[in-house]
Amino acid sequence: MMKLKISTQGHNDIIDITEKVEKAVKQAKVENGQVLVFVAHQTCAITTLEYEPGLIQDLKELIEKIVPANKDYQHNKAWGDGNGAAHLLAALFKPDLTLPIENSQLIRGTWQKIILIDFDNRPRTRQVIINILKNDAKN
Ligand code: ZN
Repeated sequence: MMKLKISTQGHNDIIDITEKVEKAVKQAKVENGQVLVFVAHQTCAITTLEYEPGLIQDLKELIEKIVPANKDYQHNKAWGDGNGAAHLLAALFKPDLTLPIENSQLIRGTWQKIILIDFDNRPRTRQVIINILKNDAKN
């Protein structure tokens, strides 16, 4: 298991972590298996995106449309930390992603990048866990 530390700006910051995951896969020297990418926080998420400026902007607009940042959420009333939207978005987007490894290579689409989205309302340092599993010899 490997742990990455990722600094974010919060406010729906979208960070491409593909190279870091691929480096971890290379180091693991697993020929065939799976990689789990998991973020252990309830105000951010892991997913995939074609990482180009237009889509980054489109995704940020979609996020704001689905769960507006400045609504009167019950969580904000109870806790006063103002990040109710971030917690809801984390529930929708999910904290993890599993990808196959074949011939020691991570399998993904050419433009399919692995991204961390930080929905929180302030800059944060995030821990991303990378767990690589080797397939059973019979598979
Ligand atoms: Zn909160």
